[in-house]
Amino acid sequence: MEVPSELRTDPGVDSQAGEGGHYRLIIVGGGPAGYTAGLYAARAGLAPLVLEGDEPGGQLMLTTTVENFPGFPEGIQGPELMQRWREQAERFGATVRQEAATGIDLSSRPFRVQVGGSTYTGEAVILAMGASARRLDLESERLLTGHGVSTCATCDGFFFRGKRVAVVGGGDSACEEALYLAKLAASVTMIHRRDQLRASHIMQERVRREPKIRIIWNAVVEEIHDVKAGKVTGVTLRDTVTGERRSIEIDGLFVSIGHTPNTELVRGQVELDERGYIKVRGGGPGATATSVPGVFAAGDVQDPYYRQAVTAAASGCQAAMDVERFLAGSA
Ligand code: NAP
Repeated sequence: MEVPSELRTDPGVDSQAGEGGHYRLIIVGGGPAGYTAGLYAARAGLAPLVLEGDEPGGQLMLTTTVENFPGFPEGIQGPELMQRWREQAERFGATVRQEAATGIDLSSRPFRVQVGGSTYTGEAVILAMGASARRLDLESERLLTGHGVSTCATCDGFFFRGKRVAVVGGGDSACEEALYLAKLAASVTMIHRRDQLRASHIMQERVRREPKIRIIWNAVVEEIHDVKAGKVTGVTLRDTVTGERRSIEIDGLFVSIGHTPNTELVRGQVELDERGYIKVRGGGPGATATSVPGVFAAGDVQDPYYRQAVTAAASGCQAAMDVERFLAGSA
C-alpha cells in the first residue's frame, strides 16, 4: 500500500533515492526493531534513513497469522503487520528504502553505509539486521513454511492444539520448543540427527520427564509432505546410521536447529559474542549501546534469547531513544 504523499514529511536530507546522502541516523534493517527505531527516531525529529534490505519485514514475512502481538485480538497476517509498521515509520518522516547494505564502515564518524555503488553517511547507526533461523534447505520446507512448517513454537504452536507435531534439533531451543508444544499438541516427536542431545542437562531431564515427547534418534528429515495439498501431513526420515528410510505422519513441523545473527557486515568492527551476536551494554539508558560510541544495536541481532517481535520492537524503541541522547550529547 502506497503512503499518501500528504502523510510524508520532508526527510530533510541532501540525497536522492538510491544516490546516497547524509543522515543524522541510519538504521540498517527492516524488521520490528528497525521499523520501531525508525518510528521513534522520526517522531524525535531525526529524519532517519531505514535500509530495510532486499526482503523487507524480517522474519514475520515468513509467517501467516500473528496472534501474540499485542493490540490485535483477532490476530494479523505477518506481512500486513510489517507493511503497516513500515507505513507508520514513514508517516512521521522516516525514509524507508528497499535497499540492502553491502558494506558498513564504523571506523570513524560519520559512519558509512554502502549500498552497491552508493554511500550513505550517518552521525549515528542502529544495527537491526536480525537473525535468520537455520533451515534444513529442503524445497518442501521452503514451500510449506507458514503452512505447517514453522521455526517458532511460541508464535505458531497455538495452531496445533490437539495435533501431532515434530521438532527437528537436539539443542536447548529444540527442547524448549518441544516442551512448549507438549502443553498444546497431542504428541511431540523430536527428530535428532545424533544419538544424544546437545541441550543442557536440565532441559534433557525435562524432555525425558514429559510423557508426550518421544525422540527419534539418528534421523534427518529428507522430505516434508504434502506440498501438493499445501499442508504438512508427514515427513520422510533417513536413519543416519543404517541409511534406512521411513515415514511418520504429523500435522506440523518445527525446525529448531539454531539461529545465525546477520552480523557479517560488522564482524571485527563491533564486539560480538562467541556466537556472533552483537554485545550491548544492557540495562538502563544506553541499553542498546555497542562497543563503538554512536553505534547501537536492536532486536535479534543482539538477542539470542527472547527473539519475539514485541521484544525486538521494544529494543528498537530503546535504541532510538539512546541515539537521541547520544546525538544531543555529541552535538
Ligand atoms: P544449538 O545449541 O546450536 O543446537 C542446534 C541443534 O540443531 C543441534 O542439536 C544440532 O545438531 C542441530 N542441527 C544443526 N544443524 C542441523 C541440520 N542441518 N539438520 C539437523 N539438525 C541440525 O542451537 P539452539 O538450540 O538454538 O541454542 C542456541 C544457544 O542458545 C545455545 O547456547 C543454547 O544453550 C542457548 N539456549 C538456551 C536456552 C535455555 O537455557 N533455556 C534456550 C534456548 C537456547 P548437533 O547436536 O548434532 O550439532
